[in-house]
This record gives sequence, structure tokens and C-alpha cells, in this order.
Amino acid sequence: MDKTFIITGSSRGIGKGAALSLAESGNIVLNYIKNKEMAEETAEKIREKGGKCETFKADVSIYEEAKALVDFAISTFGNVSALVNNAGIAPAPVPFDMTDYAQWKRVFDVNVFGAFNCTKAVLPYMISQKKGSIVNVSSVWGMTGGSCEAVYSSSKAALIGFTKAMAKELAPSGIRVNAVAPGIIETEMNNHLSEDEIEAIKAEIPLGKMGTIEDIGKIIAFLCEDRSSYITGEIIKADGGWI
Ligand code: NAP
Repeated sequence: MDKTFIITGSSRGIGKGAALSLAESGNIVLNYIKNKEMAEETAEKIREKGGKCETFKADVSIYEEAKALVDFAISTFGNVSALVNNAGIAPAPVPFDMTDYAQWKRVFDVNVFGAFNCTKAVLPYMISQKKGSIVNVSSVWGMTGGSCEAVYSSSKAALIGFTKAMAKELAPSGIRVNAVAPGIIETEMNNHLSEDEIEAIKAEIPLGKMGTIEDIGKIIAFLCEDRSSYITGEIIKADGGWI
């Protein structure tokens, strides 16, 4: 049976990069919350590469929708080999005293509880097949903390703790859990940055450029597949040497 990969938040950005990297390795379930058109465009690109792909709208912050996403993957393709918890939001950076409970709650609902919900939904299946890979998309800010990014950094640090704990807990069940921690990547998430700000950041990055969705997508694909069969509990930083 072909492998099946669920990638949350894969209509665009890093999730799309992961989906394109996995296109020739099995069936892909793309997830989006609003952008059906972009999700369909990405699905078409995957089909052009010969992959089987379906799209599914779900807000991963709501358990019932996350469960429906996993159920859809299993009923459509018959299995789930890997789950990529990629869907995430990043509020514009502001000092901590300008943040409020509502903002912290929404960021944690998507970035942390989104991963919790999808993992909870997929685990009974992965445990029964005694095999699986879960990849969480964290951030360098989750490792080091970013000034004026307390809420985002905290949510991404939570994913690192989640990854390490779950890797130990699930190893006896044959399930690997890893994370990627990207630096600054060319996606809509960074649209708020001015040209000058981008140039200043690039000057700090030893490789001299922002990352692409392909740069991160291929790491996620590696962690999803058996090529990384002896790796679990790992956080792979991919930031061009920045942090
Ligand atoms: P992006 O371009 O803004 O794309 C976000 C994706 O998440 C879209 O597919 C969006 O769907 C989806 N999404 C948002 N909220 C969702 C929800 N509640 N349920 C389901 N899907 C949802 O973001 P990105 O830059 O690719 O970021 C992807 C991940 O990488 C995030 O976890 C982010 O924190 C992390 N990351 C990004 C960077 C960077 O520099 N870009 C660096 C480090 C880590 P719609 O298209 O339908 O809105």
C-alpha cells in the first residue's frame, strides 16, 4: 500500500514545500483553513509530478476538525504513514506588554493545540500499525527566544518539549517524533518585513539569504520517510547558520 502523508497548513508556504518534496513518495493530504484555491493549485502541482493528492479544510485548533482530517486521510487512502504538524500563525512582533490573553490563546490554540489535536487523532491508528512518523514545525525562536516575539517563541518552545517527550513515549510503539526549527523563510508569514529589514537580516545570516520552502520541505520529507529511520527526538535547526 502506498504511504500517506498528512501535512497541516499546506495550501502555501512551508507546508506546500513539504508536500511537493513528498509528491513522489506517496499519497498527500493537503490541509488548509481558508485558501481552498491555493490548496487546489498545490494539489494540481503534486498531481503533475505523478502523486495522488486530496485537499481537506480543517481548523486544526478544533479537535473535531483535526479528527475529521485524519479520518478523511484514512478513509481515502487506507493509511497514514506520517503527520506533519506545520499549520501555524505568527502575530506581528510587539513588546510583551502590548500582547493580551486573547492573542496568546489564539496563537497557542493553533500552534500548540493544533499539534496536540492532530497527534491525538492520529495516534490510535499509528499505534495499531506500530509505525509512524510525526514531524512538528517549530522555529529558531522556540530554541533561543526572539525579542518582541514572546507569544510565538513560547508556542514554538512548547512544540520542542512536546517533540522530545513524545519521542521517548512513542519509541516503543515504533513511532518517531522529530521537529524542524526553521530560521527565516520566504513565505507570506514574513510579508510584514520591509526590504530594509530583510536586507539587515540577510546580512546576519552566514549563508547570506533567506531560506526557501524547498529548503525546509526536503528536511520535513526526510524526517517523514524511512531514510531517517534511526532519528527520533531530534530538533533540526535550518537557518543558514543564523542563530
Ligand atoms: P504561511 O505561509 O503563513 O502559511 C500558513 C499555513 O497554515 C497556510 O496553509 C494556512 O492555511 C495554514 N493555517 C493557518 N492557520 C490554520 C489553522 N488554524 N488550521 C489549519 N491550517 C491553518 O506560514 P509558513 O511561513 O509557511 O509557516 C508554516 C509553519 O512554519 C508555521 O508553523 C510557522 O510558525 C513555521 N515557521 C515559519 C518560518 C518562516 O520564516 N516563514 C520560520 C520558522 C517557523 P490558509 O492558506 O488556508 O490560510
